[in-house]
Amino acid sequence: MEETDLAENLHRIQEDIISISSRSGMSHRSVVLVAVTKMRSLEEIRFLLKAGHRVFGENKVQEAQDKWLGLRKDYPDLCLHLIGRLQTNKVRRAVTFFDVIETVDRPKLADALAHEMQLQSRWPDCLIQVNTGGEPQKSGIQLDDVDSFIIACQNIWKLPVKGLMCIPPAEVEPTIHFSLLQKIATRHNLTQLSMGMSNDFVLAIPLGATYVRIGTALFQKKKNCHQT
Ligand SMILES: *Cc1c(COP(=O)(O)O)cnc(C)c1O
Repeated sequence: MEETDLAENLHRIQEDIISISSRSGMSHRSVVLVAVTKMRSLEEIRFLLKAGHRVFGENKVQEAQDKWLGLRKDYPDLCLHLIGRLQTNKVRRAVTFFDVIETVDRPKLADALAHEMQLQSRWPDCLIQVNTGGEPQKSGIQLDDVDSFIIACQNIWKLPVKGLMCIPPAEVEPTIHFSLLQKIATRHNLTQLSMGMSNDFVLAIPLGATYVRIGTALFQKKKNCHQT
């Protein structure tokens, strides 16, 4: 993608985030754009960095390391989020590499993360991924288990749990999922909510999103004037 198009998209989305926040009375909470760069080229990533963006999401440990390891040195203020499923055999590298791990979703993973964070004395922020739609094929702790899992992450594993993340089922109205996530966070005093993607961040912000994860809308080519 062209540098100017990317910078334009970035600024437009950031303006949208600000105007939706203030329109919905959420301007007291900051909403951070997590630019999702999975499968995007290094060149495109550099354009976003040049435009001043610093918060990015990747869904695979290996791909993230391949692309970002070199850039970390040039941009010490980077904030990298892991937004994809984390296998326990990649926990070591994930703890070394990421600043936020959004996908803590099962006891075995929580246990491995706790162990590794102790070893490395490095504590990336953790979000707990909740399977709000109860979809069997999807990651995320099930609703029946979410309260006990959050408490165990805090009290047993002592993970730095900052909030929750969800990916609503495709093809459904996402707002009930967003408000459900907000309710769970409120009853555990958790302040960060990662919810909303290209198609639905407009709905997630009024329901309390503090991170929106956006890929497609950021990398969309400019529509020509005849389309709406
Ligand atoms: C790819 C991805 C996104 C970005 O989705 P878009 O619809 O492209 O904005 C957000 N969250 C997760 C977990 C993803 O894997």
